Amino acid sequence: MLMAPYSWHLEVPVWDTPCFCVGQEAREYSRMQVITHLGTLESYKAAYKDIIRAHCPTQPPDPEGDVFRAGWYSYIEDYGRAERQAFFSHPKKNTPNPECHICQGTGFRKSIKNPQAKWDTYKISQVLPVADILSRGDLFLHLIRPQGIVSAQGWRDLGTISPLTKAPVLQKGWHDLLVRVLRPHASETAAIVACEI
Ligand SMILES: [Zn+2]
Repeated sequence: MLMAPYSWHLEVPVWDTPCFCVGQEAREYSRMQVITHLGTLESYKAAYKDIIRAHCPTQPPDPEGDVFRAGWYSYIEDYGRAERQAFFSHPKKNTPNPECHICQGTGFRKSIKNPQAKWDTYKISQVLPVADILSRGDLFLHLIRPQGIVSAQGWRDLGTISPLTKAPVLQKGWHDLLVRVLRPHASETAAIVACEI
């Protein structure tokens, strides 16, 4: 079972993982920066809904559907990018809180949770031939925004979820990597799986 090694429920020997407090000051700073310069996330959402209403007055896309979500994820990209830039340029992005009661300022805490975990629960949303995915092209994949791909060679990350906007962010070169992993399996089927963690 390809997904098994990536379960959140798999317990591993105790290891040192970065504490929640590492970079906390930089995170708070970067969130305040985007609010100051771009407004709140709520104001961004309201503006996006106005655009949708203006463009599709008679038949707006289903707010729970892929098309609506894909549009929102594209719209919010600049917001998430501004937050990441502010965070990564902050001098304390890797600094723990010296008064943290969990790690006592060391920046590490003990964990037995699987460091490779990608899912807590998951649901198969589609099963389809790999050849179909390869021939459908970019738009289909952009609607899905795959965060990773798992094959017999293991898990490869294709993106992350922005902790601020909760939108999937695809990493550079994600599409080439996905095609490279899928191509040798063109005669097989693939499952598209929605993971929660
Ligand atoms: Zn800590």
